Amino acid sequence: MDAIIIENIPFDIQAKQLYPILKIESNRKYAERLDILLASARNIACPRVAYKLAAVEYDNDGTVLIDGVCLMSRVMQVNFEDCRRAFPFIATCGMELEKWSRTLTDTLDIFWADTINMMALGTALEAFKRHLTDTFETRMTSTMNPGSLEDWPLSEQHKIFSILNAAGETIGVQLTESAMMVPLKSVSGIEFESGEKFHSCQLCPRDKCPSRRAPYDEQLYAVKYNA
Ligand code: SF4
Repeated sequence: MDAIIIENIPFDIQAKQLYPILKIESNRKYAERLDILLASARNIACPRVAYKLAAVEYDNDGTVLIDGVCLMSRVMQVNFEDCRRAFPFIATCGMELEKWSRTLTDTLDIFWADTINMMALGTALEAFKRHLTDTFETRMTSTMNPGSLEDWPLSEQHKIFSILNAAGETIGVQLTESAMMVPLKSVSGIEFESGEKFHSCQLCPRDKCPSRRAPYDEQLYAVKYNA
């Protein structure tokens, strides 16, 4: 199956949603400044997603093959045990916002723009998950991202791009040799149907991570993945 592009995703976040995140609720001067910055971001924002419906197969040793491409992750082998299909994807805030944020010179504006661009990426990911439910009637899904755990290194991001052929370029995402993406607020991964919700954070001991979505479970790897 060819890659599918999701675009024209509305980015209608309101400044009031950002006040508590940026801790400027009680500062009227800052709030007005943020309103102006956000309005210019909303005018140009084009978050996008490229993905495809891919076959999940297994090598003789249990290694996972996504559309024939071999992915090296023990956690994936276990998580994908009952999967016959999966959805490799690249999501991005879009080159428009990346270029806009590069024109900013004030440190505070740059910091706020970083958060705005992150929210645009979040909007793209939400649209992607809604699209999968509507199009493929997916049951509960979870996500694996290359580089989020030692088990699946960032270098495997090249394989996601290769599975999606040139779709990364179609949505304006470049992958450098060191496997970094431009725009910076972009993410790649594989969405898969799972009986129970999986978060990489469950296997990640990193302390005080502001993006943590699930508590670290010290026993989980040994019990579930190291059999
Ligand atoms: S705890 Fe933070 S660094 Fe670790 S997987 Fe979760 S989001 Fe990533």
